[in-house]
Amino acid sequence: MESALTARDRVGVQDFVLLENFTSEASFIENLRRRFRENLIYTYIGPVLVSVNPYRDLQIYSRQHMERYRGVSFYEVPPHLFAVADTVYRALRTERRDQAVMISGESGAGKTEATKRLLQFYAETCPAPERGGAVRDRLLQSNPVLEAFGNAKTLRNDNSSRFGKYMDVQFDFKGAPVGGHILSYLLEKSRVVHQNHGERNFHVFYQLLEGGEEETLRRLGLERNPQSYLYLVKGQCAKVSSINDKSDWKVVRKALTVINFTEDEVEDLLSIVASVLHLGNIHFAADEESNAQVTSENQLKYLTRLLGVDGVTLREALIHRKIIAKGEELLSPLNLEQAAYARDALAKAVYSRTFTWLVGKINRSLASKDAESPSWRSTTVLGLLDIYGFEVFQHNSFEQFCINYCNEKLQQLFIELTLKSEQEEYEAEGIAWEPVQYFNNKIICDLVEEKFKGIISILDEECLRPGEATDLTFLEKLEDTVKHHPHFLTHKLADQRTRKSLGRGEFRLLHYAGEVTYSVTGFLDKNNDLLFRNLKETMCGSKNPIMSRCFDRSELSDKKRPETVATQFKMSLLQLVEILKSKEPAYIRCIKPNDAKQPGRFDEVLIRHQVKYLGLMENLRVRRAGFAYRRKYEAFLQRYKSLCPETWPTWAGRPQDGVAVLVRHLGYKPEEYKMGRTKIFIRFPKTLFATEDALEI
Ligand code: ATP
Ligand code: MG
Repeated sequence: MESALTARDRVGVQDFVLLENFTSEASFIENLRRRFRENLIYTYIGPVLVSVNPYRDLQIYSRQHMERYRGVSFYEVPPHLFAVADTVYRALRTERRDQAVMISGESGAGKTEATKRLLQFYAETCPAPERGGAVRDRLLQSNPVLEAFGNAKTLRNDNSSRFGKYMDVQFDFKGAPVGGHILSYLLEKSRVVHQNHGERNFHVFYQLLEGGEEETLRRLGLERNPQSYLYLVKGQCAKVSSINDKSDWKVVRKALTVINFTEDEVEDLLSIVASVLHLGNIHFAADEESNAQVTSENQLKYLTRLLGVDGVTLREALIHRKIIAKGEELLSPLNLEQAAYARDALAKAVYSRTFTWLVGKINRSLASKDAESPSWRSTTVLGLLDIYGFEVFQHNSFEQFCINYCNEKLQQLFIELTLKSEQEEYEAEGIAWEPVQYFNNKIICDLVEEKFKGIISILDEECLRPGEATDLTFLEKLEDTVKHHPHFLTHKLADQRTRKSLGRGEFRLLHYAGEVTYSVTGFLDKNNDLLFRNLKETMCGSKNPIMSRCFDRSELSDKKRPETVATQFKMSLLQLVEILKSKEPAYIRCIKPNDAKQPGRFDEVLIRHQVKYLGLMENLRVRRAGFAYRRKYEAFLQRYKSLCPETWPTWAGRPQDGVAVLVRHLGYKPEEYKMGRTKIFIRFPKTLFATEDALEI
């Protein structure tokens, strides 16, 4: 038989805390590589699960697998997503504490797949609720709908989530899922009007064109061929080999019914999807004064019908801008460029507001029927966070700035909660706490979000000076305000050597995960997210029931400026952090093994970056600061009692005393371990390995 030691050589250790050389990134990666080669995609860092995307179906998520992981202790079985799922669920049931599973990793690393497997696990293994069993189906079926509207093919991932998602699942006192709620973050709406080469618009457009019934398409005035739509041709890849839009559409269509859409609502929704495509095909021509005129009569006709707006008003709104000066309304004509800008802004607003409405609609269908009854108080909540990981591209803009800020916040929470739980465990076990040195990234969070002095505040300030402020005046103001910050740099502030690598329209942030250089181009525009007033007015008059809920008249009368995009995002993140803080955390860190989306390829450079961005070495250091390994006395005694004549075959006394006898017999030295209230703590992996090896002999 293969000894435990040689097996370790082959498949690595299943918990990184057992690495002898735990500060070495090379041995960390070597361990990942060994396991990946053996199709062992899961490894722990203590309670944290690290997962490497296998890019192949490993057949490890069947009902049998679910059963194998139910009710067993975390450390007794090989690492698996279901082990985390079950541990979290049991904590929820036995301690009645809300739980939150935070899933992170870069695009294509497997976050959404993991979220779906977790939901599947709960749907299949939890008891069915006494009434309202439909909630279980709705929880599952909300996914294809949200993915149709919020996911797209990108260069990194054929099914990339272009929004952040936090989902609560509510369980009743018997542990049955009875309700749910979804929060969505920052949909990448620029994709509606533009896609980079090799990328697509959101799935739903292609699904509708491929899979929609003849009659539906006729009503919507659509042709099957995606090439007919300017909003769908920019990436030049309407067809993707891994995607079947036609069958996906069937799934989405069914799912809409499950989540309570009436036939009328489906029609209204599809009218909006079609309107966006028609909007993209609205052309303008310049008249003799260079003012834009709409030349696409057919599109305008369909838009009028599908959006339920007045045709003349819409035409006028597309080519004029309404300005209110000294209480008087003035219509100023737009040139070609401005009209195209206004049209695209409308398409983005229509689509993203519909997405928000969709999330609300799903939430109403997931709302627990017991929410108002007294038993509501006895429900517990399990949260699942599937949110974009740290992004560093060749060219980084406002979107990356927001996403990376989000990751700073989550990292801060992670450090805080991990340290706190370590400290609490030591305290509960009566073991002296040994302080851990770690990098606190609060300084970077402050740099971004602080009132008055933070980057977002300064950006908002510039957005208040229309006509005067530009992306470059924003940069200058940043330079003036945060010039001596150790995590901030621009061309002007840099020394000779670094200056070369920084353009004049750029600023660089030193994130916890590394440097990122952002180009300020478009910051003001994207933060303002301006939709001309007369377009808003037109939409407020819409007879499409979904649109009329998306565009509210109060927006027009309200004197107060709407919050900017960055500020809205900041507030929603603060709220998210509060939600997560109130729960017991669990972490899943996903890693993408290669950029080719292929099985079996382990690209070391790419993986090293992710180990860094995910803060895994720091995580391991904190976890290993004191003791590599800890286990309940009962479990420890059960496993190793055969190694000592006094504890074998049974130990009649307290397990703790049995363990004391056992380790003395094994020759553990006092500095190698500590006895807590309920657990033994072992400082070095080698002590444990020696004991494990003794079992094999
Ligand atoms: P994004 O941030 O772009 O949304 P993501 O982290 O959500 O990325 P996923 O969509 O979950 O990434 O995964 C990308 C693809 O990788 C999946 O479509 C699937 O093909 C494959 N994949 C991910 N996880 C697994 C897994 N556990 N087993 C098999 N294949 C997987
Ligand atoms: Mg995803």
